[in-house]
Amino acid sequence: MDKYFNKVIKYAKKTLSLDKAHTVEMLLTTISGMTTITEVDLEFVNYCNLRCKWCSLDHMQKRSVMTGSLLRKFFDNLLFDRRFRSVKVINLFNGGEILLHPYLESMLNIIKEYKRSFIDKGLIFPKMDFLTNGTVLNAELSGKLVDLDVIDTIRFSVDGGSAEKYEELRKGAKWDVTSKNVRDFIKVNNGKIKTGIICIIESDKPKDTGWMSDEFKDLCSLVGHVELRYPHDWMGDVQVEGYEKVFKNYCKFLFHSLVLLPNGDVAVCCGDLNGKKGVIGNLNEKDMFRIYASRPRREMRYNLLRGRRDKIELCRNCSGYC
Ligand code: SF4
Repeated sequence: MDKYFNKVIKYAKKTLSLDKAHTVEMLLTTISGMTTITEVDLEFVNYCNLRCKWCSLDHMQKRSVMTGSLLRKFFDNLLFDRRFRSVKVINLFNGGEILLHPYLESMLNIIKEYKRSFIDKGLIFPKMDFLTNGTVLNAELSGKLVDLDVIDTIRFSVDGGSAEKYEELRKGAKWDVTSKNVRDFIKVNNGKIKTGIICIIESDKPKDTGWMSDEFKDLCSLVGHVELRYPHDWMGDVQVEGYEKVFKNYCKFLFHSLVLLPNGDVAVCCGDLNGKKGVIGNLNEKDMFRIYASRPRREMRYNLLRGRRDKIELCRNCSGYC
């Protein structure tokens, strides 16, 4: 987008309320012919091998695996439609565990092809952010992930703060296995890909690592970044004791992100893990821009900005993210 427009948007965000700043942003992006989408999540599979305490993934839903042709369709939209040059980050995650994709390597090779095409055209390829629970990672697969030169950041979901708490919260995972897999990856990686841990902790714990067990702290010390989070209730789908909601007339996901599910459905928000309330179109039937500009998405934005959250089935029970 025009540098001048970017400056105006930054200034509006500093000086106006979020909803007014967003109206300015929408106006200027429309004039410049760009979308407001900065991040897209790609879900390679919609199933997981764990049953984590605070996750809303529906393990009874029909299993779905993203195909190479759908992935190509997505990247064609990004490559050939300049309105999506606004996309800066692609998150290789949603509800399912990406390492369970049966053809993961060939999917990543497709992304690599497009990365080359972007570079050949003089375009900046979005940053690729990979998130895994790490339970089925091994040294061979780690080597492949590093050598492919596709992923910019890999983060591991390792919750709890101690081995016991990890196994209690991440049902089905074994601390010894996961911590070894992460350590092996760190060795093979040798600093090439940025690393991180996302760690959900109980709400009565402080957001620092001081209280954690030594082995947990040691694992955290091996990665570049540790993000500590308190659990949230997935739009009311999961019970979290003491979880307090503060509703706002804005949500960064609704305005700046899209999620491509393995069956081609496109949802507005990663909070809709099972693709039930936030789906606004299917990439097998329509191109990305038509989905982005579709009426259901416009109505959701309109209602949220005007404080009519109760009219949006998806967001009704969610406090949103700023
Ligand atoms: S308000 Fe909640 S449900 Fe709605 S788009 Fe934002 S995060 Fe998703």
